[in-house]
Amino acid sequence: MQSIATRNVIIGAGAMGSAAAYRLARRGEPVLLIEQFPLGHDRGSSHGAARITRHSYADPSYARLMPAAFQAWKELEADAGQSVYIRTGGVSFSPAGFDYGACVAANLESVGVPHRRMTGADWNRVNPIFSVPATHDVVFEPDAGMLAAARAVALQLELARTHGGEKTQVMPSTPVRRIDLDGTRPVVVTDSLTIATDRLIVTAGAWVKHLLPRLPIPLVATRQQVLYFRPSDPAPFRIGRFPVFIFKGSGEDEAFFYGMPGFLGTGIKVARHFVGPETDPDVEDRTVADAYCEIVRGFLRNHIPALAGAPIDLTETCLYTVAPDEHFLVDFLPGRSDVIVASPCSGHGFKFSCLIGQVLADMATGGPGHERGELDLLPAWKLARPS
Ligand SMILES: Cc1cc2nc3c(=O)[nH]c(=O)nc-3n(C[C@H](O)[C@H](O)[C@H](O)COP(=O)(O)OP(=O)(O)OC[C@H]3O[C@@H](n4cnc5c(N)ncnc54)[C@H](O)[C@@H]3O)c2cc1C
Repeated sequence: MQSIATRNVIIGAGAMGSAAAYRLARRGEPVLLIEQFPLGHDRGSSHGAARITRHSYADPSYARLMPAAFQAWKELEADAGQSVYIRTGGVSFSPAGFDYGACVAANLESVGVPHRRMTGADWNRVNPIFSVPATHDVVFEPDAGMLAAARAVALQLELARTHGGEKTQVMPSTPVRRIDLDGTRPVVVTDSLTIATDRLIVTAGAWVKHLLPRLPIPLVATRQQVLYFRPSDPAPFRIGRFPVFIFKGSGEDEAFFYGMPGFLGTGIKVARHFVGPETDPDVEDRTVADAYCEIVRGFLRNHIPALAGAPIDLTETCLYTVAPDEHFLVDFLPGRSDVIVASPCSGHGFKFSCLIGQVLADMATGGPGHERGELDLLPAWKLARPS
């Protein structure tokens, strides 16, 4: 077993790890990024064509952080000379009498983001491909859109190499078997290496509890199912005509559905946001249940009927790492100012990942946000402060 020493080790090359590697490399920091699977794999949480981005949040602390998140993506695009954000407009809708729409509209107002609130009947006139109940509460945000997920991850890895040159090392297909915290410095152990590091950033997604079993916060990995529909007439569903959407239902099942236009050749993406049963991230299960497809078609029948009967030409599975209250975990490990844990997921972390990369780099280097900066705005889960 070979032993090496380095300055910064990041475990996991998903949305969060690639963002942290990019931001550290951009500051001239040496980075060793270790990933258990090949880069761009589809076993975790960050693969696939696109993710929704929006300022439209019912929780004010997330809405407040979104302008900074949008700015972080803009900086990346400027640095890369490539776009990852696709503006499509976004609609949030929910049954009348349910405060979701009111909260979303109030938060958009408070962060000064243009939007329009209307009834379901109004919305159906604005965009006739929708047929939502006339009394629904609808909020339209023109700046909402999609982020090219797989491309954004690959781009940050590429830029980490471009900025870092030889100081950036990426080890794909290299599972970290354990993290040893008994010594003065964290030691990362793989099949062939022990790596002592000054700083360790654990962005291992659904596997974080495998690497840090004593993490004092219940994080649950769950498996998500995603459907891509191929309507016979795709025109009304094209970018520029069909917005990203979020539906938040009421009642005991609190149904929560979301979707977006086709992108990079895919059909229209629709899925249910649902914590679901705990799963073992090491178990590869790509099945999508017929019953689930029927639940999604049921939602579409009541809201986007033209899509309800369309063939599904692609299914995808993906992992959520869910924290209590679906908040984020971004903090130092208790008693260690040299180990940072970041699991900002719960099914809504991608849009923040570029910003979180910046904050992780701050935390690691003692930069301006090393006390988590903007993230202190977030009701993120905090672990005990290092003494
Ligand atoms: C179906 C679905 C839809 C979503 N939609 C949205 C959306 O519309 N908008 C939004 O903002 N967010 C969305 N999200 C959430 C978002 O995608 C995630 O929050 C984000 O991708 C999490 O990134 P991550 O880097 O934490 O996890 P991952 O991408 O899973 O990265 C963790 C990495 O660590 C690696 N790793 C783990 N253990 C080890 C080890 N022992 N050794 C080496 N490497 C290891 C894994 O292989 C993996 O590559 C969605 C998520 C899902 C699943």
